[in-house]
Amino acid sequence: MSQVRTAPSLTHEAADRALVALACRVMAAAGLFDMHGHISLRDGDVAYINGRRSSRISVTPAQVAVVNIADGAVVSGEPPAETPLHLGCYRAHPEIRSVAHFHPLAATAFATVGKPLITAFNAGAPFGKVVPVYDDPDLVRNDSQGSAMAKDLGKHRAVLLRGHGVAVVADDVPSCVTLSLYLEENAKRLAYAMTIGDPQPYTEDEIKRVAASLWQPFVIEKTWIDAQERARRAGALDDLA
Ligand SMILES: [Zn+2]
Repeated sequence: MSQVRTAPSLTHEAADRALVALACRVMAAAGLFDMHGHISLRDGDVAYINGRRSSRISVTPAQVAVVNIADGAVVSGEPPAETPLHLGCYRAHPEIRSVAHFHPLAATAFATVGKPLITAFNAGAPFGKVVPVYDDPDLVRNDSQGSAMAKDLGKHRAVLLRGHGVAVVADDVPSCVTLSLYLEENAKRLAYAMTIGDPQPYTEDEIKRVAASLWQPFVIEKTWIDAQERARRAGALDDLA
């Protein structure tokens, strides 16, 4: 289902690099990535991740770094300092195939003030009743921090990092981008609603029903295609083959 904008003749590694570069630009064009922010893809024993120096809006496939998941050894390129955040998720949860870390304004604000990011809008349904919080504001730069954060993430699809940002996990890149958009949209709507009243948290049954309608391949594909198209129209994909 993933709409990979790569030619069929590309090698496997080239396709992975192209997909990570594309997703990074899409996240930047959507306003989710600032000069920081990274998205990764697991393929076998390694993770592909946008390089630390490159601008998120113009990262090229060649600037995507490759890291060994088991020991963190760099296979190529210059991975970001917080790569252990990604590796912690991959090591703890074999089903995770894509991780995004960024510092979105609204979602981060909830962990900053200690208010729970609950589900009171449809966009929150894929995250369950509340998004868990990792309570350490320090950057996730080593293996013990990465595994502590992955522990707080548990089986959830996202975790808030107090005073810092968020981590989002999924079983593929399009789902990871879609969840990242949903997470921030839910936080924005919730923050707005809280200025005029008390949001009504969804019940378990409401979450289940809404998630069943909203979190399905067709919707994920539609969101991923739309996010790419917005990035393309903004000129962010012009030099990406
Ligand atoms: Zn960070």
